[in-house]
Amino acid sequence: MKESLRNIPKVNSVLEREEIKGLLTSYPRWVVVEAVRRVIEEKRKELIEGKRELVSENTVVKEVLDKIEKFSLPSLKRVINATGVVLHTNLGRAPLPKEALDAINEIGANYSNLEFDLDEGKRGLRYVHVEYILKKLTQAPSALVVNNNAAAVFLVLNTLAQGKEVIVSRGELIEIGGTFRLPDVMKSAGAILKEVGTTNRTRISDYENAITENTALILKAHTSNYKIVGFSESVSLKELVNLGKKYGIPVYNDLGSGLFVDIRKLGLPYEPTVTEVLKSGVDVISFSGDKLLGGAQAGIILGKEELIDKLRKNPINRVLRIDKLTLSALEATLRLYMEEPESKIPVLAMLKTQEDQLKTKAQRLLEKLKDFSEIEAGIKMDVSAVGGGALPTAELPTYCVFLSHKSIELKELEKRLRVKPKVPVICRIKDDKLLLDMRTIRDNELEIVVQSIKEAIS
Ligand SMILES: *Cc1c(COP(=O)(O)O)cnc(C)c1O
Repeated sequence: MKESLRNIPKVNSVLEREEIKGLLTSYPRWVVVEAVRRVIEEKRKELIEGKRELVSENTVVKEVLDKIEKFSLPSLKRVINATGVVLHTNLGRAPLPKEALDAINEIGANYSNLEFDLDEGKRGLRYVHVEYILKKLTQAPSALVVNNNAAAVFLVLNTLAQGKEVIVSRGELIEIGGTFRLPDVMKSAGAILKEVGTTNRTRISDYENAITENTALILKAHTSNYKIVGFSESVSLKELVNLGKKYGIPVYNDLGSGLFVDIRKLGLPYEPTVTEVLKSGVDVISFSGDKLLGGAQAGIILGKEELIDKLRKNPINRVLRIDKLTLSALEATLRLYMEEPESKIPVLAMLKTQEDQLKTKAQRLLEKLKDFSEIEAGIKMDVSAVGGGALPTAELPTYCVFLSHKSIELKELEKRLRVKPKVPVICRIKDDKLLLDMRTIRDNELEIVVQSIKEAIS
């Protein structure tokens, strides 16, 4: 092996080859050099792992030619979401409305009044650009936006409860995925977690008995990605608000998703809208901008003027602050809620799409796949999911196109669709079928899907 390792082709000598030099007419030099480096590195690994015995210069040249196109593309790229999970956190959650993209373009490409009060001609606050519309949409007394909802939770806990106790039901000690676990966030925000009740049952008396001199906050967290069913009992927000009033302790509701429309209109189970939640008299709430709201990643905090003011003044707020592109996209998305959100906000439109429309889309895709002689395809009903830790048990009936290939195994086909095409297609295997869910594939993406399938099997 030592001998083979020593004989691995050198970057410079590969770069001298005519075929490689030829690439310089189509690709920048750094891309070609990087491609050669990466292929040689891959081959070295394969040698060490015993997957091959030697590496010839011809092998390296051939792979560079094969892979140069892929190496020339950015790492972060568009994909086709064929999973049917509308808010797929790993695939970037909400695709933005056109109006939001236009706003990003306008504000990103130019100077703006981000922190400049045009009437007064002096320094202003970036938050005012969304505060007016958030108040208008929700009737909230005051509003603040930060980088994401995790940041919002952190800011609320750190500002209102540092060094003090926060009462939370054991049934709501959520983990959202990755590193967001409520007890850990609480600790890093400097608040002391006071758990009450049990996993399945918590009563108002549990909260009341836990109140001490040192209690700063009562927290209700939305159990976004799970449901406790069966022998269970939890305390309503209204009851907590009454308890908070009795003892002068603010109540905070982390809503997770946050809704501005009645989602029963979209065929989903009832969830209170933000306005309905605020009517309970809760002191502070927070939710994500890129879950069911369908906008850019952001954490939206609404509530009583004096509490929001404290949050705004916390030096940590600067660390968590929202950037101008997000702000522009968020304002544009929020303004759509004044008009026709269900048709203009892609997330809501995808959730709302009716079965017959999905079936028609599946038939159109099937028709386009007729010319592929090695592909067998058909249509199958299945269920899509909302995703993004929202409505975990809601099932949306959908239509899928299923695919198989005469000589490529299902798992391999799934991998190739991910790895080979310029626009990767992410899909799922269920009951021995590779499914492309029509709910999350947009009408104008069908041609791209066909092209990607072509690239995957070539
Ligand atoms: C998703 C979620 C969060 C985190 O929100 P991000 O916007 O992803 O930071 C916090 N709390 C709850 C209840 C959630 O569902």
